[in-house]
Amino acid sequence: MSKRVAIIGAGPSGLAQLRAFQSAKDKGADIPDIVCFEKQKDWGGMWNYTWRTGLDENGEPVHGSMYRYLWSNGPKECLEFADYTFDEHFGRPIGSYPPRAVLWDYIKGRVEKAGVRDYIRFNTAVRQISYDTASQQFSVTVQDYSQDAQYSETFDYVVVASGHFSTPNVPFFPGFETFGGRVLHAHDFRDALEFKGKDVLIVGGSYSAEDIGSQCYKYGARSITSCYRSAPMGYQWPANWEEKPLLQKVDGNTA
Ligand SMILES: Cc1cc2nc3c(=O)[nH]c(=O)nc-3n(C[C@H](O)[C@H](O)[C@H](O)COP(=O)(O)OP(=O)(O)OC[C@H]3O[C@@H](n4cnc5c(N)ncnc54)[C@H](O)[C@@H]3O)c2cc1C
Repeated sequence: MSKRVAIIGAGPSGLAQLRAFQSAKDKGADIPDIVCFEKQKDWGGMWNYTWRTGLDENGEPVHGSMYRYLWSNGPKECLEFADYTFDEHFGRPIGSYPPRAVLWDYIKGRVEKAGVRDYIRFNTAVRQISYDTASQQFSVTVQDYSQDAQYSETFDYVVVASGHFSTPNVPFFPGFETFGGRVLHAHDFRDALEFKGKDVLIVGGSYSAEDIGSQCYKYGARSITSCYRSAPMGYQWPANWEEKPLLQKVDGNTA
């Protein structure tokens, strides 16, 4: 009997698995029976933008951490799939740092061309996996929100491609519980317009702090203060942006 492979997640990593199996099949290989479980309604993982925060329409924790106007922070030349170029997808050269929607389009283009969508069971969240040493098989239990049903199937292999930028780690600082403003994690940031005219404190000294701070600046925040645990980012910031050592406490609206 043909081996069975479960893939959890249809983001870029899960899609790369599907693409690789399909490519082997096209070259005449006898590939296993593949099922990809994706809890969202569409593919692309992080690149599939959602306006939602907190819980999704099914009551699952929202996977997406990307914001509306996110642009790639790495040049597209370093992200290109060897077998599907940006030129092939767009039919013309494009800039090195594309917006999120452009990269999502590119990621989709490759798997649409490979024709792997039928392997994916959308709207289906993997709940639990157990391994039976006697039969050497995995039992994968899922919640299918389209059918409002839970079921289990057995597989010989499981590929975990569920991503790792979805569960926020929110530090506590004394005074947060009585702070008069809003405390949010970058996972829930969607649009900098919300911070127009506001004084924003950003805890963190890397990509998200730099990019979210820059968006707040562009969209009219009154001031931006970013604070760091290990080292300042050290760029030449606009006049209304300061870098400080790590936050110690909040007293009312004073940090
Ligand atoms: C704010 C932000 C900006 C980023 N910017 C860039 C960038 O500019 N360039 C870059 O290269 N990378 C960037 N990344 C990294 C990004 O995570 C990767 O590009 C890529 O999306 C990782 O692919 P993945 O398939 O491993 O995970 P994900 O894209 O996270 O996909 C995982 C998939 O698994 C699904 N899933 C999770 N749990 C379950 C479950 N229990 N059952 C079923 N399905 C499940 C999810 O719904 C999702 O579709 C950024 C990430 C973030 C958060």
